[in-house]
Amino acid sequence: MPRTHAALPRLHVEPDLGVDLDLTLGKEQSLYLAAVLRKSVGDEVVLFNGRHGAWLARLTSNSKKSVVVHLVEQIAPQTPPSDLWYCFAPLKTERLDYVIQKATEMGAGRIQPVITKYTQVNRLKHDRLVANAIEAAEQCEVLSVPEVMPETTLDKLLDGWNPERKLVLADESAPSSSPIDVLSGLRGKPVAIMVGPEGGFSDEERSKLLALPYTIPISLGPRILRADTASVAALAVIQATIGDWR
Ligand code: SAH
Repeated sequence: MPRTHAALPRLHVEPDLGVDLDLTLGKEQSLYLAAVLRKSVGDEVVLFNGRHGAWLARLTSNSKKSVVVHLVEQIAPQTPPSDLWYCFAPLKTERLDYVIQKATEMGAGRIQPVITKYTQVNRLKHDRLVANAIEAAEQCEVLSVPEVMPETTLDKLLDGWNPERKLVLADESAPSSSPIDVLSGLRGKPVAIMVGPEGGFSDEERSKLLALPYTIPISLGPRILRADTASVAALAVIQATIGDWR
């Protein structure tokens, strides 16, 4: 997608976007534009809401409490939301922020925290995860923010699983091999990636997962990757093989 208006700040907003609409931004975004970026009346920003594409907007007021912008024109059409699910065992704070941002940058459409036996974290701050996804979407110019689901357990996730969706299991115990051929066979099918916690999947969890008809185990090479590294590696091979990098 051509990178137009790359230098302009990009902000995710909730309201509808349309030509000649005026929008009053919230306190946080107003402070960011007026005080941090020191934007003036007439300066331009890019807004997106995940439904109406990207819009060029011009400041008509730069009050630190409530910046007002006037929508000028749509500069990018809305892209369809991604159907790629990223299921993962949540990690501790900074690394959790990291994987939410990387999953967003790598084009996940749904982010699903899954509590497994060796997961080190049980209570998640959902708002923080959403804020990380929004921040990553603003920075990497995606036009829709991935849906961040409330955490669930592996058993509950599998109980409600639609067998049409293939579950690509990043299996650290799989013999080292390239996942490209296996993944290529999934083209056109709904897909989820599942990455385990720092402690890996328990033997019981792995056997249960491998016994499911929709599970596709993949190796991510001969080295044991940290869970956050494995997340980016798995999302990259999927996007490069059957995803939106093509
Ligand atoms: N502590 C475990 C490894 C866990 S790594 C051990 O030493 O065996 C965390 C997660 O990253 C794993 O559950 C798996 O989902 C993924 N992962 C790491 N390395 C991998 C590899 N080489 N192939 C496939 N998945 C891998």
